[in-house]
Amino acid sequence: MTIVRDKLFIGGRWVAPAGTGLIDVIDPSDASVYAQIPEGVAADAEAAVAAAHTAFDGWSRTAPAERANYIERIAAGVEARREELAEAIAHEVGMPLKLAGRFQVAGPVNSWKHYAKLAREFQWEEQVGHSVVVREPVGVVGAITPWNFPLNQVTLKVAPALAAGCTVVLKPSEVAPINAFILAEIIEAAGLPAGVFNLVSGYGPVVGEVLASDRRVDMVSFTGSTRAGRRVAELAAATVKKVALELGGKSASIVLDDADLATAVKGTVSSCLLNSGQTCSAHTRMLVPRAKLGEAAKLAADAASAFKVGPAFAEDSKLGPLVSEVQQARVIGYIHRAIEEGAEVVTGGPDAAPPGPGFFVAPTVLVVEDRKATVAQEEIFGPVLVILPHDGDEDAIALANDTIYGLAGGVWAGSDEHAFAVARRLRTGQVDVNGAPWNPRAPFGGYRQSGLGRENGVYGLEEYLEYKAIQMPQKK
Ligand code: NAD
Repeated sequence: MTIVRDKLFIGGRWVAPAGTGLIDVIDPSDASVYAQIPEGVAADAEAAVAAAHTAFDGWSRTAPAERANYIERIAAGVEARREELAEAIAHEVGMPLKLAGRFQVAGPVNSWKHYAKLAREFQWEEQVGHSVVVREPVGVVGAITPWNFPLNQVTLKVAPALAAGCTVVLKPSEVAPINAFILAEIIEAAGLPAGVFNLVSGYGPVVGEVLASDRRVDMVSFTGSTRAGRRVAELAAATVKKVALELGGKSASIVLDDADLATAVKGTVSSCLLNSGQTCSAHTRMLVPRAKLGEAAKLAADAASAFKVGPAFAEDSKLGPLVSEVQQARVIGYIHRAIEEGAEVVTGGPDAAPPGPGFFVAPTVLVVEDRKATVAQEEIFGPVLVILPHDGDEDAIALANDTIYGLAGGVWAGSDEHAFAVARRLRTGQVDVNGAPWNPRAPFGGYRQSGLGRENGVYGLEEYLEYKAIQMPQKK
């Protein structure tokens, strides 16, 4: 049965949208219509901005401990509805259900709790000479989010913004929005004052562009493609808003000559294939010593082909479909392009996926000699690993740094010290040494065209704060 959501959350109430359009949310495992949501229009976005603007004065002046109480209630609500959230995300994104619980919902529960704790513990002011330096909320925040880790991306904006004392208008991805509607219900139940949090669904060029342009919005925080992020930044420039951008990536996993090749390849393949490769920080280029290219390719092919492709609700699926037919066509197009440009397909390929109606793509490993080949430079956002040969540490560093992006990466070496020395040379926001795990308290964000600003932990909270210096008369 199709889920129908026909209201938007504005000013503390579920209200009918100004327009009549509905957007279909497609389940990529079988191409059925999973849900429908309102196609919000500019008037809806403006109403939500007005509500957030009105609510700001009161919310920004609440004691941080009081904000922490609300955020704790939201955390408890997310935890209580975690199974429902994981199911919604498995339907919208196509990630296998068990993995969705682990990778899509557990993180947000933890982050909501953490931002409550930070609201209590953060040092909101300090004395610097005769100045009191206070940290104050930026103001009204427009949050625009993508579909790939939808609840996580929403949480990493809304939770720190609320903790900081900002009010928020959220425009979730139209491709995977149901989790955000559930979150809005949780926030409503937590009893936040009207207008502190607002949800307007719709398309980016309509609702998103109002958030980027409206002068009452003080900051726009965007996660998504570099193309749309650039547009958001252009629009925001007219009113000199604060802009945070979390954009694409083409992250390198560098395997150095003294690394344990089998462990490095297995770790890289797992990173690359998480969420069917639809992860902005995925390690999608593996740089291996030239003499070990053949061996690395064989190991990668074995590891990748072991990932069972199937629908999100099949017990044995390790790799779900891609999120949409458009995304599937785009990724297959990249594989064809790679072959035309001389890549060798060592497993997978454009025609190797299980038949539809789901939007499947087989895990694919390509060996690419040409460093300027399209698939060596552009983000594919699918289950495709590109292996490139390198000629030693210096060459590997130069190769890793040779794209427009700089979001994540990994270094594998015979010692952590060797890997660390190389990690320091990478122009990228995160680097994992010898397969070290994700740290939800560490800053996450990009260099160059991977973005501006940081999310996660205290770094994410600080994005939503201004500094104010209040000079006090010198005591005689
Ligand atoms: P997208 O850019 O198409 O959409 C992201 C969001 O922006 C959606 O809500 C969309 O409606 C909105 N949008 C689109 N055009 C807009 C416009 N002109 N003005 C305002 N808003 C607009 O991206 P996507 O396909 O949803 O997500 C995939 C992309 O996101 C990939 O490139 C991926 O690398 C990137 N991503 C980055 C991070 C990160 O933290 N760096 C995390 C996840 C995804």
